[in-house]
Amino acid sequence: MPAKSQFISLREAQSPFFVGIDLGGTNIKVGVVDDWGRPLSWLSLPTEAEKGPEDAARRMGEAVLKAIKKAKLQKHDISRVGLGSPGTMDIPAGMLVNPVNLKGWDNFPIRDRVSFHCGLPVAFQNDANAAAYGEFWAGAGKEYHSLVLFTLGTGIGCGIIIGDLIVDGENSHGAECGHIIIDSSDDARLCGCGQRGHLEAYASATALMKRAEELLAEGHPSSLARRFARAKPQNRNTKLIFEEAEKGDKLANQLVMEAARWLGIGTVNLLHTIDPSIVLLGGAMTFGGKATKTGKRFLDAVTREVKQRAFPTIAQRVKIDFASLGGDAGFIGAAGIARLEHRQEA
Ligand SMILES: [Zn+2]
Repeated sequence: MPAKSQFISLREAQSPFFVGIDLGGTNIKVGVVDDWGRPLSWLSLPTEAEKGPEDAARRMGEAVLKAIKKAKLQKHDISRVGLGSPGTMDIPAGMLVNPVNLKGWDNFPIRDRVSFHCGLPVAFQNDANAAAYGEFWAGAGKEYHSLVLFTLGTGIGCGIIIGDLIVDGENSHGAECGHIIIDSSDDARLCGCGQRGHLEAYASATALMKRAEELLAEGHPSSLARRFARAKPQNRNTKLIFEEAEKGDKLANQLVMEAARWLGIGTVNLLHTIDPSIVLLGGAMTFGGKATKTGKRFLDAVTREVKQRAFPTIAQRVKIDFASLGGDAGFIGAAGIARLEHRQEA
């Protein structure tokens, strides 16, 4: 995904500087960010998880140095590096515990190994929390005091930021709101985590594709049937649902509205728990955002569900919107977490 943010030159930038790393199952993004959350440089490398965590830690360390050079800065200009990583993890210990998307990386001291390879101190956080912090610091949430970010993709990631507090919990499992229970029946849908009835099993891209295939198998007429049949397996995804919804296909639209409804219900649970200023929807499955009919309808439907079900004061005041940093939220937020740790220690 190309960078969505506006890059700034060194002349415009405000020191101190930070480097953010967004470690994903497929790619790693690394970028230098200034004190206001504006990126100066950016690069991407394949994760190549099969080569093991030490090899990746070394390449991440090298990428940090490359990104610094690309920003026309020196290593001593960088106050700290931030690393956002998929879980499960032990955040205070700087350890990966059993990361589902990084097979064989169990019990690895990733924070200290990346620090060793780049020669800079490293702050460590969950990737979804880092993305939420990115939106809070420099994105769609920057005018607000508290936010929830849902990252809608294969699964549903979530991050909660209240002031400068990142809600990561006592055991590094906080804000896992893709796994809040929205259906307690015995035959509720099965979630990717193995439990039933979780939000992710109803409103993620995986859930939407499953539901589409069920409805098509029941014989509901839709242009999706032809699109699915013709697409290569790797291209059979919610982009097709989005495109057909844009063209007015009834079933495709129904699928988007169903996901919005479930997401609205999940959102109300969070509103009644933490009462945040804003809830943001980001990730790969946002149906083109506000630039498209489907994206607007999706956001309206989530908002409508929230207004109907939340306490009146909350329903009236909470903002619900799309995230704005796209695929850059992760590294910008990781840099923001480095900045936070740097400021707390200063
Ligand atoms: Zn789950």
